[in-house]
This record gives sequence, structure tokens and C-alpha cells, in this order.
Amino acid sequence: MKYTETEVVFKEVPDEITLAINISGCPCRCPGCHSPHLWEDVGYDLTERSLKNLIETNKGISCVSFMGGDANPEEVSKLAKFIKTNFPSLKTSWYSGRSSLSDKIGLEDFNYIKIGPYIEERGGLENPNTNQVFYKVNPDNSLEDITYRFKKRF
Ligand code: SF4
Repeated sequence: MKYTETEVVFKEVPDEITLAINISGCPCRCPGCHSPHLWEDVGYDLTERSLKNLIETNKGISCVSFMGGDANPEEVSKLAKFIKTNFPSLKTSWYSGRSSLSDKIGLEDFNYIKIGPYIEERGGLENPNTNQVFYKVNPDNSLEDITYRFKKRF
């Protein structure tokens, strides 16, 4: 699994300072995709070692979000577990472009999960007509839909 770039962002996960990692090799092929460069298998290897380095060089973050990775959900989940084990103060998030949640992940590895492909006429999470859903993963692994947080422009 590879990533192309990272960015510290404030709106992708409510109430968190998030290191967003853009993962390439996206298999979703959404028409109107805002990041078609992520369709190719390009960039740098995303391993436990490179992830640790990214976290340690971005002091002050409270969350790490995997943006994509639908070609390999197991690996995303494994890396999220690595964060939970080695950086227990950090939260973890996954932005999936699939319309349903992969059964290959461990919900306990994540604090937040967004699902849903990008549909141009329905827009992203901030759009009242969006098809995308943003969940908070509760301690009992139940999913709480908190998409409304985006519509209120937290
Ligand atoms: S999931 Fe995201 S990166 Fe992948 S095709 Fe859809 S919009 Fe593009």
C-alpha cells in the first residue's frame, strides 16, 4: 500500500487535528473523482515504520486518518491497530469510498469511519444531499452516524 502525500487538516474529522494520509491505488473509480491521481499505484510505501515517522514528525496531531485504501482494507486496519498500540493517545479514522463497510477490518481499530463513493451531484459530507456517511465508532463497536456534524460546519 502506498501514499502520495499527507496534510494536517481540521475539518475531515470533527474536533480533531488530523494527519490525513492520501493512499493511492484507489479501486473505486468514482465518476467526477476529485483526486484521479490516486487511482494509480504511485507514491511511497506506507509501512509501520513510515507511519511512525509521519506521526513523530507531525507533533500536535490528535488523530490519523487513512484517506482511501479500499484495495486493501486489512492493511488499513492493521496500520490503525499499530497506531492504537504504539500511540494510544491518538484517534484513528478511515475514509472509504465503498458504499458499505468492509468485513475485513476490525472496528475496534478505528474511532471514525466514513463510507460512500463520491457522487458529483450529491457532493461530499458537507452537502445536505450527500450519500456519504460519517460514523463515530463507539466503545462497544456500534456505529453512530454523526454526518450532521459536517452539515453544521463544525
Ligand atoms: S474513492 Fe475518492 S479517490 Fe477513489 S475514485 Fe472515489 S473520489 Fe476518487
